[in-house]
Amino acid sequence: MKKISILGSTGSIGVNALNVIDNLNDAFDVAVLSANKNGHLLVEQAKKYRPDAVAVIDNEAADFVRSELKHNKITVFQGREGLLELASRNDVDIMLNGLVGSSGMAPTINAVQAGVDVALSNKESLVMAGDIIEQEKEISGSRILPVDSEHSAIWQCLVGENMDEVDRIILTGSGGPFRTRDIDTFNQIIPAHALKHPNWDMGRKITIDSATMMNKGLEVIETRWLFGVDADNIQIVVHPQSIIHSMVEFKDKSVKAQMGVPDMKIPIQYALTYPQHAPASWDALNLVDVGMLTFESPDMNRFPCIELAYEALKKKGTMTAVLNVANEQAVYRFLKEEIGFMDIPAIIEKACAQHDWVSHPTLTDLFELEAWATRFVHAYPIK
Ligand code: NDP
Repeated sequence: MKKISILGSTGSIGVNALNVIDNLNDAFDVAVLSANKNGHLLVEQAKKYRPDAVAVIDNEAADFVRSELKHNKITVFQGREGLLELASRNDVDIMLNGLVGSSGMAPTINAVQAGVDVALSNKESLVMAGDIIEQEKEISGSRILPVDSEHSAIWQCLVGENMDEVDRIILTGSGGPFRTRDIDTFNQIIPAHALKHPNWDMGRKITIDSATMMNKGLEVIETRWLFGVDADNIQIVVHPQSIIHSMVEFKDKSVKAQMGVPDMKIPIQYALTYPQHAPASWDALNLVDVGMLTFESPDMNRFPCIELAYEALKKKGTMTAVLNVANEQAVYRFLKEEIGFMDIPAIIEKACAQHDWVSHPTLTDLFELEAWATRFVHAYPIK
């Protein structure tokens, strides 16, 4: 039985990961769970999975969890320090990082430094600190196992293949809820419109990232760090049905694609059971029911975030980190209806242009940059 920590267990990925653990019966012993504020769900999960420790960021939620679990022999760690301490544990086999945004970066680094394999859903870790994570992996020997469906697809297409024979990675994306909306009405978009994703049921931040297609931009950067492929060899193709999760084109122009229903349990389980495909009872793909698979180029006028992400990746250094933090903070302000939908790319572009670029940032540089970019976005006037 393998020991697993699940960070962000109360989120969309965390809940799916626990469903996968149920599906795998006795293969995993859950050692750690974590939440930000959702103490009620964390208590429910802790009583069912009996981890030896949980982490809660919010003080009030931590008090609630501590009092609810006082008879359960579960240690409650509190705040950011508590989460980082649990992420540093080296007595687990694997850590699943389902945290959202830049809050996931330091826990990924801690786990890698501890020599623990990371099933990584938190793409922002690699977007912020791909270089540092790469170096720490070399030292500790820990592995990053992709959870994002596109990167799981690429990983599966590459089994038994040689990276020298890869020409191109084709990342697919649904195009989100605004693929066909009249671009002249984009200034009327409110969070309720953007939170309606056509195919995937996900957390709020990634759902907005899908609506701006910044999610695909972040995934281009994630692809660079997971598979060592340059920006020029990563193409985005819009595929509204979300059945092909991504493709790899080889030098002889042979193309491999990985398919499945849009259900995150599939890539999560593969990350946990790699290289095995363990049995599962969830819905299978029925191509006859799907009927038609279509493909189109992304509209760069409609989705300027894509170009911003490519430019950041080409510039390297701190550029991808500032892109990530500015995007995250702009998304939170959009969700509070303080800024408009098209202010998101405008703010990111300004933050990227105005920050003090560093070619090889240390972790301290990244934390300082995070604070700067957060202040920068919050100085943007309310609409
Ligand atoms: P959710 O918002 O649903 O869940 C986030 C989790 O992190 C929750 O457990 C939340 O706790 C916790 N959390 C939130 N803020 C903090 C913080 N500041 N510090 C510590 N913990 C925090 O996100 P998703 O599950 O949708 O996404 C998680 C990651 O996976 C993201 O990086 C996303 O891009 C990626 N991803 C998600 C997919 C999906 O289908 N959802 C698909 C592919 C990738 P609480 O519940 O208490 O708020």
